[in-house]
Amino acid sequence: MKQFILRSAPDELGIVRLSGTDYHYLARVRRFTAGTVFNALLPNGETARIRVRAVSGNWLEGERIADAAPARMQSVAIPLISLFQALPKGTKMDLIVRQAVECGVAEIVPFTSAHSVPKIADDKDRIARWERIVREARQQSGSSVATVVHAPLSFDGLLQHWNAMQEQHGAGVKGIMLHPLVAQAALVSFHACLEHSDTCKSIALAVGPEGGFSPNEASRFAAAGFTALTLGNTILRTETAAVYAVAAIRIILLERASWILNSSARQ
Ligand code: SAM
Repeated sequence: MKQFILRSAPDELGIVRLSGTDYHYLARVRRFTAGTVFNALLPNGETARIRVRAVSGNWLEGERIADAAPARMQSVAIPLISLFQALPKGTKMDLIVRQAVECGVAEIVPFTSAHSVPKIADDKDRIARWERIVREARQQSGSSVATVVHAPLSFDGLLQHWNAMQEQHGAGVKGIMLHPLVAQAALVSFHACLEHSDTCKSIALAVGPEGGFSPNEASRFAAAGFTALTLGNTILRTETAAVYAVAAIRIILLERASWILNSSARQ
């Protein structure tokens, strides 16, 4: 566990008392006892070191100590990534949520599409499970991005969400649709698509279901301003395509300064 996410901040004396599932996880699963020190992420986004003071049968009490929390590597500011993920079959969405959180995705928006097998259901248990997975993945990976996972939307609802992003950020949003069937003449590289991203605030990445996007959905994404990008000749499973593309986008953005510099030096 890289960090434990505290649901409430320590009190004015620096004391925090945990019960329920948090107690169970730290005292029973991790076997923390008095004296154990761990890294915590506070609700305001600060990090802190907490020392366990006492453990009872159903609560664990910790105190904030003066030790500096481990320094984070200085990271380059990059646009937020929203993953628009067509609902896959079975429990694959759990894996996608976990991997997206580890990769620093800010927002996960599941949606149903014409070729999606699962249809929208008001399934509160499933959303609660995804929220638990987000929390666990942030604790395990140490991600400082507070990933939000939405209830599944219809395709129309997804485009409304995209419109709201555009209204919020204006020209500072970019939409990418992952599509294996991009015509040769329309091929755009990831680098070309992300080249002018210095003023970009948010990137939406749309990934299709097992059956792919329908032609109607592909043209509605295109009409909404999404650029169709391909990951090459192999057809990847939807859960592989999502993590592959998020990783590609993040690396390209994080290393932008060096490749922009090199490409302008060659001109
Ligand atoms: N037969 C489907 C089609 O033609 O789109 C394959 C769908 S694929 C299993 C599931 C999703 O993953 C696709 O809709 C796309 O978003 C993404 N994907 C998989 N392989 C891809 C590739 N090589 N390039 C771009 N996207 C890909």
